[in-house]
Amino acid sequence: MSGEAMLPCFACGKTLLNACAESENQPQEGTEFRTYGHYGSTFWDSFDGEELVLSICDDCLRRHSVRLAQHKRFRPVIVRAVGMVGRQWVERPMVPYTGHADDGAVRIDAEEIGSDLGSIEWSSDAAALREHAIEANERAR
Ligand SMILES: [Zn+2]
Repeated sequence: MSGEAMLPCFACGKTLLNACAESENQPQEGTEFRTYGHYGSTFWDSFDGEELVLSICDDCLRRHSVRLAQHKRFRPVIVRAVGMVGRQWVERPMVPYTGHADDGAVRIDAEEIGSDLGSIEWSSDAAALREHAIEANERAR
């Protein structure tokens, strides 16, 4: 940990510490939010690639959790011994915040990494992960 994050909590103004030394703004016990804005805002609707950035501390998120929603966008694709190798994109509605993460992961075998399983976006290093996972499986036998 090293010093203060660039931004304080947007809601309460509390100073936040950086979770990582090399980070400009990765708050410890807080979350950074970024947006290009969108149609409808009279404050921020960027078309030039510039994001609006704010941090909110975990205490404020918990205190006002009835004002939050969550939106499952993908299920992680997991292989034993190597971890996440891709994302399976899902179409689900945004729902009020429940505090419970959807833990539905797609678990596959090492040999399936990079194959055509539909709607899966493989990690950029999927080929190397496939080799690593297959080698790890062979060593375990
Ligand atoms: Zn706060």
